[in-house]
Amino acid sequence: MTEKIIIIGAGPAGYTAALYAARAELAPLLFAGPQIGGQLTTTTEVENFPGFPEGIMGPDLMFRMQQQAEKFGTRFAYESVTGVSRDGESGLFRVATAGGEYAAEAVIAATGASARYLGLEGEDALIGHGLTACATCDGSFYRNVPVCVVGGGDSACEEAAFLTRFASKVYIVHRRDTLRASKIMAERTLAREKIEAVWNSQIVRYLSDASGELEGVVLKDLATGEARTLDVKCVFMAIGHAPNSAFLGDLVDRDQAGYIIAAGPGGATKTPGLFAAGDVADPRYRQAITSAGMGCGAALEAERYLLSRQ
Ligand code: NAP
Repeated sequence: MTEKIIIIGAGPAGYTAALYAARAELAPLLFAGPQIGGQLTTTTEVENFPGFPEGIMGPDLMFRMQQQAEKFGTRFAYESVTGVSRDGESGLFRVATAGGEYAAEAVIAATGASARYLGLEGEDALIGHGLTACATCDGSFYRNVPVCVVGGGDSACEEAAFLTRFASKVYIVHRRDTLRASKIMAERTLAREKIEAVWNSQIVRYLSDASGELEGVVLKDLATGEARTLDVKCVFMAIGHAPNSAFLGDLVDRDQAGYIIAAGPGGATKTPGLFAAGDVADPRYRQAITSAGMGCGAALEAERYLLSRQ
């Protein structure tokens, strides 16, 4: 069976694309992948998504988007897509997963971005043992102990504020002497009693105990070059995300960081019938609302493309 359209990714871009495609009676098949609901499922309250003056919890917002897409006929496949290729003659896409292969006339890639880590020695083994990129998921395991957040953006502020509910102390370790977060977030964060900023500093080593749990970090002061130990039981990474675009191979152009470069409106890529939406194609704004807008544009352009094939 050949699908009219396959949407890859279950964040604001994917769900919005699905909503529009479903309402255009294209019966989209959406691959939800490893993080159903995308990055917003790892946040707490979202105050800047229009239409919710009282704020809305990230997971709740994503659940509503999913329901809305489903209501109009989106089908969901809970599998990760491992690769996409296109047959030049028929113009059909082959979408591969661990479990099989699917054919589609058009594809929208809305695979978002994944948390970045520092790339230090022993990092992989510590993930889940005192090293994480999700305060919402893991914060409550670290009650009444000191923890730190790495980064100086909105995510770092949000994570740090959330962690004050549990931890005895929350350090924000940042490589500059000011936060890059929005003014309102930065001010609110630094005003919190439990939060202490550690400026001009970079983690250079993780320290772990005999059972492999993190028990501290070695910091380097970037101004003086001095090293010191910070006793923390968990490090929450908030240093940005890397776009999930590798599975598209040569079908798309990317910038140096791996973000897909659009070749036309609606996230059209250099491959006819393949569109990109949301964080995977947006190094600039990376907001839920802009992702949703990109998903809408991609679905409308995909609909036009499908019409042109008839
Ligand atoms: P971001 O704005 O890119 O900030 C990443 C931070 O990590 C920066 O402070 C950066 O330092 C630091 N960093 C990067 N690589 C590092 C490294 N190797 N070592 C140490 N520090 C490193 O990322 P984000 O905070 O995840 O935000 C991403 C987007 O989502 C932004 O557009 C943001 O506005 C949005 N967002 C919005 C909300 C909200 O409004 N509620 C919440 C979360 C995120 P430098 O400052 O030195 O570059």
